[in-house]
Amino acid sequence: MKIRAAVARAREPFRIEDVELDEPRDDEVLVEVEACGICHTDLSAKEHDYGTPLPAVLGHEGVGRIVALGAGVTRFAVGERVVMSFGACGRCPSCVAELPPYCRHARDFNLFGRRLAGSSPISRAGQPLTGHFFGQSSFASHAVAAAHNLVRLADDLPPELMTSLACGVQTGAGAVVNVLRAEPHDAIGVFGCGTVGLSAVMAAKVAGCARIVAVDVRAGRLEHARALGATDVVDGSQVDLGAALKKLGGLTLAFDNTGRPEVIEAAYNSLHSRGRMVLAGLSARGAGLTLDLNRLMASGRSLRGTVEGDSDPRTFIPQLIDWYRRGELRLDALVTTYPFEQINEAAADMLAGRVIKPVLRMS
Ligand SMILES: [Zn+2]
Ligand SMILES: [Zn+2]
Repeated sequence: MKIRAAVARAREPFRIEDVELDEPRDDEVLVEVEACGICHTDLSAKEHDYGTPLPAVLGHEGVGRIVALGAGVTRFAVGERVVMSFGACGRCPSCVAELPPYCRHARDFNLFGRRLAGSSPISRAGQPLTGHFFGQSSFASHAVAAAHNLVRLADDLPPELMTSLACGVQTGAGAVVNVLRAEPHDAIGVFGCGTVGLSAVMAAKVAGCARIVAVDVRAGRLEHARALGATDVVDGSQVDLGAALKKLGGLTLAFDNTGRPEVIEAAYNSLHSRGRMVLAGLSARGAGLTLDLNRLMASGRSLRGTVEGDSDPRTFIPQLIDWYRRGELRLDALVTTYPFEQINEAAADMLAGRVIKPVLRMS
């Protein structure tokens, strides 16, 4: 069928074009896309940072309604609404352990944007485009999505607010809940206050953390963090970060999504004994850290990374929807909506920090 899709080429604006979308295969569904969030990963993929073959149809935070089912799909019905999350095979050791972000095939499904068999459901003038990005490619009017990635959505939930559950919100909240397992006695630092960091702040508030320290270099973001639950804020552009964290009594938990070595080192050095730190930000290629190894050993601290907050979308997204319904996950505070045609303006506003989470409305 003919669909409208935003085609990405390196160093060019997105262009909305007519492309051809295949029928869903056995384990796929056809989704009419209602809305899709823009994530930094989409824009990095467009500039070829991850080796995503271009031209491509990107978009990996899609929400929509199922309009056709592949022959083998039994878990969903036509007419149901879904969030499309990241791809995973469902069979490898990480998938069986309910840690699908570490699926053996994650790079193929997600960054390389292809099915396991290597094919793409999208083509243009007879030439295939990368069209299965994160098992969906939902910067488009319609997506052929892998059924494995889908999470059912009730009819009353607003599409523009549900999109970022698929990636950004899930990553920040998951880092706090699934990885750090924050508790009421914890003093947690959140470094970087975009969608991911602000979601971590909200999750820390749900966990009841005694102290939630939000760190950013943008005063507006710190105001947002305070409104969403931060008990203390630190403007890293104005003060010595390490000294400011020490003055606040140090941290038991830290979550970085800046990817900046100097911020990570300051956060790590502020941890108490047995403190735990997790990284979710993309760093410059080849970036490294300088850590005092004797202090690492003697303090019992730990430092690790996470993808998608170690979330299994099929259980974690429903939990996040419960928080949203209870008013504990203020998705409305993150989202700015744009018509699909304004994808380039939305991306530019995100890169300039004028908006936190731009979301495209397709219908
Ligand atoms: Zn797998
Ligand atoms: Zn993402």
